[in-house]
Amino acid sequence: MSIVLGAIADDFTGATDLANNLVRAGMRTIQTIGVPDHDFDPGDADAVVVALKSRSCPVAEAVADSKAALEWLRAAGARQFFFKYCSTFDSTDQGNIGPVADALLESLEDDFAVVCPSFPTNKRTVYQGYLFAGDRLLNESGMENHPLNPMTDADLVRVLGRQTDGKVGLLDFVTLQQGRHAAIERITQLRNAGCRYAICDTLEDSQLEVIAAAISEHKLVTGGSGIAQALPAEYRRLGWLQANKDAGKLSQISGPELVVSGSCSQATLGQIAHFKENHHAFALDPLTLAGGDGQVDEAIEWALPKLGGKPLLVYASAPPERVRQAQQQLGIEQAGQLVEQALARVARELVSAGVRRLIVAGGETSGAVVSALAVRSLRIGHQIDPGVPWTETTVNGKNIALALKSGNFGGVDFFSRAFEVL
Ligand code: ADP
Repeated sequence: MSIVLGAIADDFTGATDLANNLVRAGMRTIQTIGVPDHDFDPGDADAVVVALKSRSCPVAEAVADSKAALEWLRAAGARQFFFKYCSTFDSTDQGNIGPVADALLESLEDDFAVVCPSFPTNKRTVYQGYLFAGDRLLNESGMENHPLNPMTDADLVRVLGRQTDGKVGLLDFVTLQQGRHAAIERITQLRNAGCRYAICDTLEDSQLEVIAAAISEHKLVTGGSGIAQALPAEYRRLGWLQANKDAGKLSQISGPELVVSGSCSQATLGQIAHFKENHHAFALDPLTLAGGDGQVDEAIEWALPKLGGKPLLVYASAPPERVRQAQQQLGIEQAGQLVEQALARVARELVSAGVRRLIVAGGETSGAVVSALAVRSLRIGHQIDPGVPWTETTVNGKNIALALKSGNFGGVDFFSRAFEVL
């Protein structure tokens, strides 16, 4: 079996966001962590999303990793390729969006791609090439203060123009209002005028559908998960993809349930307080962890006899003043590392002891746990709350249900509801 869509995402949560939206639009989707091994079998998946860490790394590394991902996806038979970046176009004048897109086009022996970060549902719109986050221009939205890639210019034609030697044009709002044929004609004009890229205006989701219909012949599409969500309907129209009512179906996985949390976000703290009203919980403390492994051993011993009863919670999450205290005494990085490593060990040992359904709260924490469990790929299931799907993976030959929740996501009853919906 060949896949239909091969996607390359420039960071992990961006990849999950994309994969989640593809499932919702009817594609069976697998997310891989890094470029898969040559013999990795995507099974019956319609789409594979390769999650890279290429957003803020050196350009050469981002290009090399993206090309390696492309080669794998090509070998898996993908009919169209997608380069996923953030809807706020997170990048610098050096890259990495321009150089990666250039390299992918070159590898695909093609000379044109649309650039469509917009996602009106999530309040990212583009007008006359200017990107808005909510009701503010990108460079007044707070993104101008981002620590790694401050976005100080909202004009994406100009921003991308600084990252590529290719010419950048605009697929404008007025043309998109006239529908697919007008969009195709405009793209042809831009191509004939020597443009390598067209920034796409979009004020409403319906324009994403027009864009998707106009680019079905393109080898490469670049953008956020908004435009990606509009692609599966086109694939069905073309006969590439069967209608699939339950693209998020996973195996029935039952067994002991565990939550580990290293997220200190407002939302997670609320979810923990809510969960603790009816469930057993064990708190880890970075200052104690700094003294040795004792507290992790204690947490594991505490959990073992309770496995298989109600879901358990092991957490280090703490309110801002406690986090600041730990950081002042240990240093920000060391406090974070200690907690991540401790939670990763708890997860690894308790999965070995039989946990089959695992929720991890926190982006960095999820990274540490996924790497401790040596997870290489995730089959994406139904969404629990916007942006957070259940996934299925294999650890030591056993199927595990895994949900990775980044900081601010999820309603207050997220943890208990997540297990109920499984
Ligand atoms: P989020 O998705 O909410 O940002 P992350 O896991 O990405 O969550 O980041 C939270 C960071 O805070 C992690 O590095 C984690 O190890 C660290 N951390 C968790 N609990 C504490 C604590 N009590 N004191 C200091 N740092 C902590």
